[in-house]
Amino acid sequence: MSIKVDPGLMKELEVFGLKDAKKCFHCGNCTAVCPLSEGKTPFPRKLMKYLQLGLRDKILKSPEPWLCYYCGTCSEKCPRGADPGEAMMAIRRYLTAQYDWTGFARRFYTSERFEIVAIVIVAILVGIGLLIFNTGNPDWEHARLNSVWPKEKIELADLIMAAVLSFLLLSNAYRCIKFILGDMLWRIPFKYYKAEFKELIVTFLTQKRWSKCEDKMQWFVHLLIMTGYSTAFLLVVGMIRLFQRDDIYPLLHPIRLLGYYSTAAILYGCTYALVGRIRKSKSPYKNSHPTDWMFLILLELTTLTGIFIHFTRLLDWPMATYALYVIHLMVAVPMLVLEVPFAKWAHLAYRPLVLYVMRVKDRYLEAEASEVPTDETESEIKAVT
Ligand code: SF4
Ligand code: SF4
Repeated sequence: MSIKVDPGLMKELEVFGLKDAKKCFHCGNCTAVCPLSEGKTPFPRKLMKYLQLGLRDKILKSPEPWLCYYCGTCSEKCPRGADPGEAMMAIRRYLTAQYDWTGFARRFYTSERFEIVAIVIVAILVGIGLLIFNTGNPDWEHARLNSVWPKEKIELADLIMAAVLSFLLLSNAYRCIKFILGDMLWRIPFKYYKAEFKELIVTFLTQKRWSKCEDKMQWFVHLLIMTGYSTAFLLVVGMIRLFQRDDIYPLLHPIRLLGYYSTAAILYGCTYALVGRIRKSKSPYKNSHPTDWMFLILLELTTLTGIFIHFTRLLDWPMATYALYVIHLMVAVPMLVLEVPFAKWAHLAYRPLVLYVMRVKDRYLEAEASEVPTDETESEIKAVT
């Protein structure tokens, strides 16, 4: 089998955030200290080698970039300052662009201007949409969102958006699995996928592998962002009829408590990550790609405008509530429709997905190996026949 070598690979990955990988002299320290690197899938040194040798195909087929949670331990211990943790992150950005068949992800990662323009265009379209499509009869006495934008209409828009996002994300996820499993994807019987499915959900919601890393705070912060984000998504997309009510729920009502949890979790997680990136307080925060900033800023602004709306509703200020609602959706919708399928958020989907398919593959290969006759049983079979 021929191996293609691409001398321009490292240069190409620079725009995805790769910096010092050429300094690596393959001592193996990083793999030795990585708490997540295991026998069958050692990393990150292997990926540093692929980068230096220009082995693009090997990188495309590698699950390892998604097994790294970017704790930064390897970068701190690297004697050459080759920053293997950031190299793994740059590879993940590159892979996200490769999985995306629309080409948007590549444009997002390679052009800051494109990302900003795309966000502004979507925001303007949302603003215009809300100004055109409303009841035309707002309640100016009391803050009643449903008098301007009825929840049934918002729910319809939500469902259309969720369907488009799911299609984009799932089609890109399919390409991700196809790169990694190749033809084995269809050879593995369905029962193996079914048996491990629960693990996919648990890994997605808990990010539990991260807890093996030394810096538990990183795991905690991402857990907050992840659970806060998932709760908010559930409330505003799946349960909008219950969430967007004109009568405010009592303080201890479950819906209100879920809203408070998601707000507090995202606000704390995002603020921690933003401050960390500004101060460059630890290894994973030392090199920030523009897309890292954009996701955190949009998420923080979405949360803050959501808090302001809650207060203006409590104060029963209609004008401020309606104006903030428009601003809130002008931030939240671009964050959802652009970041989920094409940028930073997609990592949250690919990582548990790759862990899942690797478990499925391992189970399948183990079962296959246990069915292959050993030399002894082969000779027994021959003796019988
Ligand atoms: S990245 Fe650093 S620690 Fe890892 S093999 Fe290269 S030189 Fe050694
Ligand atoms: S950043 Fe952490 S998880 Fe990722 S390769 Fe380095 S040590 Fe391993």
